[in-house]
Amino acid sequence: MRPLLVEEFLEEFETVIKKVQNKELSVKDLENFIGSKLNLIHDPLLELEPVAQERFNQMIDYAKPIASLPPERAAVRLKNLLSMVEKYRNWFLINCPVFEETKDPDTPIKYAKQVGPKREKLLAKLEIKTLKDLVWYVPRDYEDRRKIVPIKDIRGDEKVTTLAKIINVETKQTFSMPITVAVAADGINQVLLKWFNQEYMQKVLETLKGKEVYITGVVKRGTFGSLEFTNPEVEPKGDTQVLEILPVYSLTEGLSQKQMRNIVKENITSIKIKETLPEWLIQERKLLDIKTALYGIHFPKSMYHLKKSIERLAYEELLILQLAFLLSKQTIERIGGISKNIKGELAEKFIASLPFKLTNAQIKAHQEIREDMQSEKPMSRLLQGDVGSGKTVVAQLAVIDNFEAGYQAAIMAPTSILAIQHYRRMAPAFEKLGIKTALLLGETSPREKEKIKSFLKTGQIDVIIGTHTLIQEDVEFANLGLVIIDEQHRFGVRQREALISKGKVVDVLVMTATPIPRTLAMTIYGDLDISIIDELPPGRKLPKTILISASKIDQVYDFVKNEVKNGGQAYIVYPLIDESDKVQAKAATQMFEHLAYEVFKDFKVGLLHGRMSQIEKDRIMESFANREIEILVSTTVIEVGIDVPGATVMVIENPERFGLAQLHQLRGRVGRSEKQGYCFLVVGNVDEETLERLRYFAMSKDGFEVAEYDLKLRGPGEFLGLRQHGLPDLRIADLTRDRDLLILARKDAEKLLTKREENKELFERVERLYGERLKLVKV
Ligand code: ADP
Ligand code: MG
Repeated sequence: MRPLLVEEFLEEFETVIKKVQNKELSVKDLENFIGSKLNLIHDPLLELEPVAQERFNQMIDYAKPIASLPPERAAVRLKNLLSMVEKYRNWFLINCPVFEETKDPDTPIKYAKQVGPKREKLLAKLEIKTLKDLVWYVPRDYEDRRKIVPIKDIRGDEKVTTLAKIINVETKQTFSMPITVAVAADGINQVLLKWFNQEYMQKVLETLKGKEVYITGVVKRGTFGSLEFTNPEVEPKGDTQVLEILPVYSLTEGLSQKQMRNIVKENITSIKIKETLPEWLIQERKLLDIKTALYGIHFPKSMYHLKKSIERLAYEELLILQLAFLLSKQTIERIGGISKNIKGELAEKFIASLPFKLTNAQIKAHQEIREDMQSEKPMSRLLQGDVGSGKTVVAQLAVIDNFEAGYQAAIMAPTSILAIQHYRRMAPAFEKLGIKTALLLGETSPREKEKIKSFLKTGQIDVIIGTHTLIQEDVEFANLGLVIIDEQHRFGVRQREALISKGKVVDVLVMTATPIPRTLAMTIYGDLDISIIDELPPGRKLPKTILISASKIDQVYDFVKNEVKNGGQAYIVYPLIDESDKVQAKAATQMFEHLAYEVFKDFKVGLLHGRMSQIEKDRIMESFANREIEILVSTTVIEVGIDVPGATVMVIENPERFGLAQLHQLRGRVGRSEKQGYCFLVVGNVDEETLERLRYFAMSKDGFEVAEYDLKLRGPGEFLGLRQHGLPDLRIADLTRDRDLLILARKDAEKLLTKREENKELFERVERLYGERLKLVKV
C-alpha cells in the first residue's frame, strides 16, 4: 500500500471542502472522501508528535458529521474547517528552530562549525566562502524519507525513495562508456540501479553490499518490465532512521551529502539574519518570515513548508528587483525630461499620406507615446508588437511629433542591414515633411562621418539613423529630444547617461523585434512603460507553416520554383549558431552552389551570410529587394526585421536548431503583402519532443503565444539568446512558475516606494544588489 501523508490528505481535503462550498460536490461526497482516505494515512508526523495526532483527530471529528447537519450549520463548519486546515499547517507542517544569531553573515566559512582547512577548500570549490554563501547554497533537490515506497508499489516514471538491500554490483565496459549496475531487493522484489560513466560507484557500492540503503531517484520500467533507477542517490540506512525531508546538494568530490547536510544544519541557526520585509507585507501576502523560509529551503518539515519557503524567497527576490527598477525610473524622472509642444499637424499629414489606415492598436500606441513626450517626465517606453504589426509607422510618428516640437531624433538598430533598411523605409516620408535624415554606420567613410557629425551639431540634420556607433562615436547634437532603439533584446537603455541632453533626459522608445512574454519583459525592462500593438493590419494573411521531411525536399524546391514563376520570391535559410563560425558559413556556401547551379539553375539565386563584407551584404539585399535575385540562400542574418514585400516563401533547414521565437521572427519575413506566404520547416532526424515543439509552432498564429511557450521550454537565458541578455541573477524565482508572484511583487514595490524611510534596510539591500547595474544615482 502506498502511504498517504497528512499534508497530502489536507490538500485533497481542502479541495473537496471548496468544491462542496461551490456546490460542485455534496456533503455526502465529503463524508465519503474522509471515509475512503483515512486509513491510507501513514505519516511519521502523527507517530512522533502526539499533539499533531490529537489535533488531526479533532479536525476529522469536526468534519465527519457535516452530512447530517442542517445546511446553515454545515456551511459554518465548512468555513471553519478551511481555517483549521490552515492553522494545522502552520502548527505542524512548518518548523524553525530558534536562531542563536551570534555570527555575522560575512564571516569566512573557515570559522563555521564542522569546517576545517580541508573542508574550507572543498566548499570554496562550490563558491561557498562565507556563512552567507552557505545558507544561500540552495539544494538542487530533496529526498522525502517520510514516505518510503516499497518496491512492489513503485509505479514507474516517478521519483521515489525506497529502502532495499544491495545484493550485487558490477561494472561493464560498453563501447561508449562504463556502466555500473547494482541489484537491490526488499524481500522478494528487486530493482536495478544503473550509473553511467561513474566508475567510482563500483567501490562505493561494494562497501554497501549486504546493507540496507535508501535509494532515491526516478524509476523507469525497463525492457522486460524490470524497474530501473538511473543515477540514483544511495545512502546507507544507518542506526537511526531519519524520517524527514532531506536536502540534496550539488557536491564536489570529497564531500558527501551527509557531511554537507551536517555543515548546513550546524551553522544555519548561528547566523544573524535580519527581516527586511515590513510586517504588514508579510501579513498581507501570508509569507513566512525570513528565518523560517531560509531554514525551510534546507530542512523543510513538509513539502508545504518547502513551497512556502520558496515562495517567500522568490517573492523577496522579485520585490527587490522591482524596487530597483522603480528607483532607477524615479531617478531619471527626477532629473526631468523635455516637455514637448506637439501640435499634431505634421503627424496628421503623414497619416493622410499612408496607403492604409492605422490600426486601433497603432493609434493607441502613438497616443501613449505622444502623451509621454508632452509630459515633463522623460519617456521610457517599450513598444512591443508581433512581427508585421506595424511598429515602424508608430516609430515614424514619434519622430515626426518630436520634430514638430523642434527636436532632433536618433534611431539605432542592432545591425547595419537594419539601419539601412530603416533609412530606406523612413527617410522618404520624412524628407517629404521637411525632416532632414541621414545614415551613419561604422563603415561610413571618415569624411562623410565628419560632415554628418558637424551637421548634427549645427542642427542641419534632424534625424540620424545608425547602429550602436551612434552612441560610441561621441556624436553631438544641437537639440536631441528622442532616441529610438530598435533592438533584438537589450542594448542601450543602460547607456542612458549618454543620452542626457542639456541637463534633461531625452525621451527613449525601445522596440523589440520579437514579442517578449510579460513576465520576462517585467524582469528585464521593468524600468520601462509598455505599449503593445496587439493587432495585425487587416487582411494580413499569416504565412502557412508546413512541416516537411528532409527526404521530400524536392517537393519544396518544386513549390519554390512555381512560386517564383508566379512572381514570388523565396528565402532558403540555413541555421548558423555563431555568425563568425567559418564551418557553417562554408555549409551555406556549399549548399548555395548546389542550389544555384543544379536545383535552381534556371533562376537567379543569391547568397548572404555573416562573413561577407557589409558592402557585399548590402548589395545582395538590394538586389533581392529589386527582384534581381529571386531566391536568396542565407544564414540567419536576415532574421531581424528585413522587409521585402515580394517574398512569399521561406524554407528553413534544420528548424530544430532555432528557438521558436526566432522561427517566428523568420517566418514573419514572408507574406508581408496581400499574397499568401508559406513557411516550410524541413525536418531531418529529430526526436518526438522536438517534433512536438515544431508542430505547436506550425499551428500557432500569434507571436506572444509562441514566446510564452518558448520561454517555458527553454528558460529565460536561452530565450533571450545568451550573447546579450540583460537578465538579473535570480536564484530562487522562476519566471515561468512565479508569474503571479512577480505581478504581486511589482504592485507591492510601487507601494513600498512611498515608504522609503520606514524601510531603510530593505532599500539598502536594493542598492547593494543593483546599485551598480541600474546606476541608481543617489539624489
Ligand atoms: P513590424 O516592424 O512590426 O514587424 P512593420 O512596421 O515592418 O512591422 O510593418 C509591416 C508591413 O505592414 C509594412 O510593409 C507596413 O508598411 C505595413 N503596415 C503597417 N501598418 C499597416 C496598417 N495599419 N495597415 C496596412 N499595412 C500596414
Ligand atoms: Mg520592423
